[in-house]
Amino acid sequence: MKATRFIEVGQPIQLVDLPDPEVGPTEVLVRISGAGVCHSDLHVIDGEVGVRQKPITLGHENAGIVERVGSLVTEVKPGDGVAVFGAWGCGVCALCEQGEENLCQKPIYPGVMVDGGWAEKLLVPHPRNLVKLNGLDPVIAAPLTDAALTPYRAVRKALSRLGPGRTLAIIGVGGLGHMALQIARALTPATQLIAIDVSDAKLAMAKELGADHCINAQTEVGAAVKAATGGAGADAVIDFVGNDATLANAVASVAIAGKLVVVGIAGGTLPFSFWKIPLECEVTTSIWGNRRELKDVLELARRGLIAPHIERQPLSAINEVIARLHAGDVRGRVVLTP
Ligand code: NAD
Ligand code: ZN
Ligand code: ZN
Repeated sequence: MKATRFIEVGQPIQLVDLPDPEVGPTEVLVRISGAGVCHSDLHVIDGEVGVRQKPITLGHENAGIVERVGSLVTEVKPGDGVAVFGAWGCGVCALCEQGEENLCQKPIYPGVMVDGGWAEKLLVPHPRNLVKLNGLDPVIAAPLTDAALTPYRAVRKALSRLGPGRTLAIIGVGGLGHMALQIARALTPATQLIAIDVSDAKLAMAKELGADHCINAQTEVGAAVKAATGGAGADAVIDFVGNDATLANAVASVAIAGKLVVVGIAGGTLPFSFWKIPLECEVTTSIWGNRRELKDVLELARRGLIAPHIERQPLSAINEVIARLHAGDVRGRVVLTP
């Protein structure tokens, strides 16, 4: 099978031929229809986030068609369209037992710990990591497994603050942010939505997706959010970048007793003390999502309430795609279609 390989920081991704993986008794081999390119992959390629082995096939946003199943697998069969739930946990720790595999202390994420989906085929360790698509296009489903699942969990963390007369500010209208706007619209239609980005093109997209206000991050973000909220600030802010500048803008934008959810893993620091954030403002991170939440997201898409904006590219285009994502030159999500 054709597969891309991340060899080392600073080297281009290579396209190689590898033997098809052997399929063990509980495993499933999925022929990849779509594999999203996430900004987290850039953090890996840039050496900011480590991987367990090199070379490795990146790609944690996957969907496709079941090609082969192990002798003990009865849950799916060859030909089934499936989304790959990517937050593979150990399955036995307390958090995995609660269904929160995305919080497992010993995760084995594809594309980080083991080979991922930027290839023609992906070996999935257990059918519990697959969700049947029931008619949904697997190329559309691929980005839903992260670019929609992650903001779904993040928006739900903020939901208690939202509703009529309330405001959600979304920082970064990229792969995740453009889904966050749609998810927020679907879950809390009466909430005022503010989109913040450095790119006017991304803000134009946010407007098309129903943002009530768009703010260019090169201006005074906190003042603009306060102006749009009668001086109070946003009841919730979700930061899909997470660098020093966006975290500072998030704190300048969030209301007293509001909520700040940090999703972006750019590694910025948020100065925290009694006086550094608004009174009783809650600050949390949010990591990916669980299987139940993925099923919810797929249902939102099936009902036409959310739809990722995707650009299809072959595996061979991966290095150009990475360069464009770096430059902020991707609208929505690029999905590799091997
Ligand atoms: P992306 O590159 O598609 O989008 C990032 C967006 O942020 C772009 O529109 C860019 O113009 C905008 N931006 C950059 N600097 C900005 C600034 N200073 N102010 C406002 N906007 C700015 O990235 P993505 O794939 O959507 O990922 C976003 C972040 O979320 C990345 O850090 C990624 O690693 C992380 N991520 C986290 C999780 C999680 O579980 N927590 C999951 C997936 C991705
Ligand atoms: Zn990701
Ligand atoms: Zn676990």
